[in-house]
Amino acid sequence: MDRSTLVADTLGRGFARLTFPAPLEEQFLQDGAAQRLLLIQIAGVGSVVFFAGVVLADLFMIPDRVGLAIALRAGVYGPLCLAGLWFFSRFSLPRMVEWAVAGGGLMAAGISLFLSLNSQAPQALAHLVILNVVVIYATMIGRFWPMLVMCLLIASGHGYAVIAKGDVFSGLGMATTLLLLSTIVFTLYGNYTLEHSDRKVYLLDLQENALQFELTEANEALARSVRTDPLTGLANRRHFDDFMTQVWAHSQAQHTSMALMLIDIDHFKRYNDQRGHPAGDRCLCDVSHVLAGTLRKSGDLVARWGGEEFAVVMGNASLDMARSTAERVVEAVRSAALPHGASSTAPVVTVSIGVAAMTPWPGVSPQTLIQQADAALYRAKALGRNQAVAAEEEGGALNRARA
Ligand code: GH3
Ligand code: MG
Ligand code: MG
Repeated sequence: MDRSTLVADTLGRGFARLTFPAPLEEQFLQDGAAQRLLLIQIAGVGSVVFFAGVVLADLFMIPDRVGLAIALRAGVYGPLCLAGLWFFSRFSLPRMVEWAVAGGGLMAAGISLFLSLNSQAPQALAHLVILNVVVIYATMIGRFWPMLVMCLLIASGHGYAVIAKGDVFSGLGMATTLLLLSTIVFTLYGNYTLEHSDRKVYLLDLQENALQFELTEANEALARSVRTDPLTGLANRRHFDDFMTQVWAHSQAQHTSMALMLIDIDHFKRYNDQRGHPAGDRCLCDVSHVLAGTLRKSGDLVARWGGEEFAVVMGNASLDMARSTAERVVEAVRSAALPHGASSTAPVVTVSIGVAAMTPWPGVSPQTLIQQADAALYRAKALGRNQAVAAEEEGGALNRARA
């Protein structure tokens, strides 16, 4: 099952036990680890400060054990808690840190229970209300299952203390028991609901991100297909037009020369007639590969102009540069040695190329450059094909360059 199906499936089935299927649970723990650790660190330090402050309650309720209270709260709880926080900030153990929260709560509750049990003060039993504070504080931060275990153990400890003090049926014993049990029930209910919605939000986020990713991919694929010729994989005419406009504007702004090549396969009609249209398509692809391989320079665009014609836009290129590149293309196609028995020019597939270059200036359109290249191509055909012919930069006079 892939990840998005697993997410949808988990959302559909629900997760009343607050656990996802294994791989998802692992990802949930990892993704939330940093945020959870930060929360636990802040709450952990807060609990050390708060717990030290509880000494004030000790002063009034168990005055006979204040010294022990200070020693345990400041000397044991504080250092152990801070050591635990340091440990979990060094080692990433997202599952264990959740149980450590329960451990911290149990330590705080254990200290309070121990102090109450060891005090002879008349308020010693009332001192057990501190357990409620521990439950509320811990369940605000902890995850449900560790908190459930912690609460059960705290409730047991409280029960033991009430029995040990012989106060099971006294008003105060009943009151602290009732108070603790209701605190546990309500805080655990809140804790469960909060974790459940946390997990739900996480799954919905995953689902939304996956959809967003798919949408982006689909958009990119669409954008690519809109700009790509499906047969050859080269840029299509629309892409060519956009690119030409951009390079034209850039060259005009920079006062640099740009060049255009129009490439036409020689005697392609005969090729089709002799070998059939599908073979003609394969030939178009082969020629496309040769063109793409020969014209690798970034900044140039090789496009299928239409039918068996291709166009190359070259930014920042002089007529000389474009002409020598065109000659390389003519040579590369001929050297590819694609058999063409019906050609009267050569026994292999050849191309004719018209090249033109100019520095664009206001009032002249890209169409002028295209016309010059087209006229040069016409001339290359007239001069016997299998060659590149360059138009002169100004005026459009033709300058032949035999390949
Ligand atoms: P020239 O040397 O003067 O260019 O002669 P030519 O036969 O190549 O030129 P012409 O324009 O007469 O023929 C072009 C042929 O290209 C006609 C058409 O059958 C073929 N053609 C155009 N597009 C495709 C295509 O997508 N696939 C195939 N297989 N053939 C195509
Ligand atoms: Mg043609
Ligand atoms: Mg042709």
